[in-house]
Amino acid sequence: MHAFKYHRPASVNDAAALLKGEAKLLAGGQTLIQTMKLRLASPSDIVDLGSVKELGGIKASGTEITIGAMTRHAEVENSADVKRAIPALAALVGMIGDRQVRAMGTIGGSLANNDPAADYPAAALGLGATIATNKRKIAADDFFKGLFETALQPGEIITSVSFPVPKRAAYTKFKNQASRFAIVGVFVADTSGGVRVAVTGAGPSVYRQKDMEKALSAKFAPESAAGVKQSANGLNTDLHASAEYRAHLVTVMAKRAVEAALK
Ligand SMILES: Cc1cc2nc3c(=O)[nH]c(=O)nc-3n(C[C@H](O)[C@H](O)[C@H](O)COP(=O)(O)OP(=O)(O)OC[C@H]3O[C@@H](n4cnc5c(N)ncnc54)[C@H](O)[C@@H]3O)c2cc1C
Repeated sequence: MHAFKYHRPASVNDAAALLKGEAKLLAGGQTLIQTMKLRLASPSDIVDLGSVKELGGIKASGTEITIGAMTRHAEVENSADVKRAIPALAALVGMIGDRQVRAMGTIGGSLANNDPAADYPAAALGLGATIATNKRKIAADDFFKGLFETALQPGEIITSVSFPVPKRAAYTKFKNQASRFAIVGVFVADTSGGVRVAVTGAGPSVYRQKDMEKALSAKFAPESAAGVKQSANGLNTDLHASAEYRAHLVTVMAKRAVEAALK
C-alpha cells in the first residue's frame, strides 16, 4: 500500500472540501482497502466518512424507505421498517457476502462502486430508487453507466438512497460459492409505475430486462418470465460461468423471483 493522508471529517460539507485531486472517500473499506493493498488504487488522501453522522440511519415514510449512505448492510438486513415495507430489500441485503462483510459494507459504497456482480444495484434499479448526493438527485435509471462506472462526478458524495415501496417484489441470486457475489441475480418488482426487472452479475453492469418487463406487465406470473429468453450477446464470460450459461440463468432466476413475489 502506498502512503496517504488520512482525514476524518464530521460533515458532508467538510468531506466534500477535502475531495481534491487524487483523494478518495472511504466508507466500509470492503473494496477500497483491498484495491489499495493490491496497488490498483493509490489515493493521495483518504476521506473517511465514518464520523459523518448525517449519512446514517433509515427512515420510513409509508411510500418509501430512505437509507443513509453510511448505513451498514447488517442494519438494513435487520431493520424492522425495511422488513415491513420492502421485505425483498432486507432479504437481498441478507444475501450479501458474509456477516463480516455485512457488518462493514455500506449502501453508499456498494452503489458508488457499481461492481457488475453486486446485489444493491439490482434493488436500486429494480425498485426505481433515487440516489441523493451532496449536489443533486439521480434516478437509478440514469445512475449505473457501465463496468464500475456511475453518473457520480468528481467530488460528488452519495448521501442517501430512497426506495419506493412496491406492491410486491423479490430477488433471487445464483451466487458464487466463495465470495457470494452474484453470478446472476434478478430483482423483480411490481410497482405503481409498472413491472421492473433488474439483472446483476450477467453483464458489465446492472441492466433492466425490458422483454421480461413487457411479458410480466401482461401477466405477472412465473410462466411469463420463463417464456422470455435472454440473448448471450454482450454478457460476461469468466471461469465461473459462460455468457450462454448466464443467459440461461437470467430466465431461471427471474421465474423464481416472480414465484417468490407471489407468495
Ligand atoms: C469477501 C467479500 C464478499 C462480498 N460479497 C458481496 C456480495 O455477495 N454482494 C455484494 O453486493 N457485495 C459484496 N461485497 C461488497 C461489499 O458488500 C461492499 O458493498 C463493497 O465492498 C463496497 O462498500 P464499502 O462500504 O465497503 O465501500 P468502500 O470500499 O469504502 O468504497 C468503495 C468505493 O465507493 C466510494 N464511496 C464510498 N462511499 C461513497 C459515498 N457515500 N459517495 C460516493 N462514493 C463513495 C469509495 O471512494 C470507493 O471508490 C463483498 C465484499 C467482500 C470483501
